[in-house]
Amino acid sequence: SKLFQSVELAPRDPILGLTEQYNSDTRSHKVNLGVGVYYDDDGRVPLLRCVHKAEVDRVQAQLAHSYLPIEGIAKLNRGARELVLGKDSEAIKSERCVTVQSIGGTGALKIGADYLRALLPDAKVAISKPSWENHRALFEKAGFEVVEYPYYDPETHGLNLDGMLDFLKSLPAKSIVVLHACCHNPTGVDPTPEQWTEIAKVVQDKELIPFMDIAYQGFGDGLQADAAAVRLFVEKGLNCLISTSFSKSFSLYGERIGALTLVTDSAEEAARVLSQVKRVIRTNYSNPPTFGGAIVAEALNTPELFAMWEEELGEMRQRIKEMRSQLVNKLAENGVNMNFDFVMAQKGMFSYSGLTAAQVDKLREEHAIYAISSGRICVAALNSKNIDTVAKAIASVIK
Ligand code: PMP
Repeated sequence: SKLFQSVELAPRDPILGLTEQYNSDTRSHKVNLGVGVYYDDDGRVPLLRCVHKAEVDRVQAQLAHSYLPIEGIAKLNRGARELVLGKDSEAIKSERCVTVQSIGGTGALKIGADYLRALLPDAKVAISKPSWENHRALFEKAGFEVVEYPYYDPETHGLNLDGMLDFLKSLPAKSIVVLHACCHNPTGVDPTPEQWTEIAKVVQDKELIPFMDIAYQGFGDGLQADAAAVRLFVEKGLNCLISTSFSKSFSLYGERIGALTLVTDSAEEAARVLSQVKRVIRTNYSNPPTFGGAIVAEALNTPELFAMWEEELGEMRQRIKEMRSQLVNKLAENGVNMNFDFVMAQKGMFSYSGLTAAQVDKLREEHAIYAISSGRICVAALNSKNIDTVAKAIASVIK
């Protein structure tokens, strides 16, 4: 029937494509700064001690592998909700929040997008310029028109707040605004608390729908501080959607754990919303997988494991900050005149380094150092063994 005869080859994912190229590079000193993963000082994806403990306990309990409910593990959902909104959140106490387990942060965005599309079929979705490369495609595939609000200012290496606010003010009411709650991917540039207050005011005044994406809670200034923007929107009484990813914070990438939280106006409304969100899940993949969710649920709900997790998360956060400061210092030591202090102010795993596409090409071709053509580097891929090589190479391509 020649079903597939005219199928075109889809463009390959730019970031995964870069990793394929890196893998086939035979130079032994090669460094991949193009990834979106936290590596430890030995260049490995860590297995957190809290995760290992929960895994061993679970295996020893010899549990059978039945189905989960459509919305996933109740303990995970409660833990995820409390983590992002705070245990004392009024919205939680009045039972007006709905949380469902999701297949990573991506799954939370996708369930949320599909649900919103049924609710607001004509809404526009505004994402930051630039944003995580999957945001646009994901919301477009859900059927929305996607527009970009100004965000990064290359002149200042900071936030273009005025541009952002002006754009948001021009959107029709009930437009959906996707906001990176902390540790902006790809730039590392986050609004200050004062700037968040201004953003929240415009969102409220213009009746926009905030969709807060929090994929790096704990990597910026700590678990509580990183959730401040989300809590600000909820405390203002806004209805919002929150996509949580546990991929980075638990180093559980391949287990695909996340959660979608929807903040409604009342317990009665929440029950109706949950029934609809469950329908979206049921017709996509029926119900989520168990193992990773059970591990995170244990870690979030067992005080001993939670304390262990917070400590390990703190170690990851501190190591990234240390790499930021070493990079800045070593660039100066290698004779770079340009001021790179902005790298220290950025939050999370990523840095918009200011490198041009031509400089990124030169880094790869002449020094076997791989970065994204936008200049995004993953600071969490730097370590005490490769930082000197990387700093020297960057210095040589920008001098
Ligand atoms: N949102 C942002 C901003 C991200 O950077 C990522 C992925 N790194 C995700 C969502 C998706 O996370 P996950 O891998 O858990 O699907």
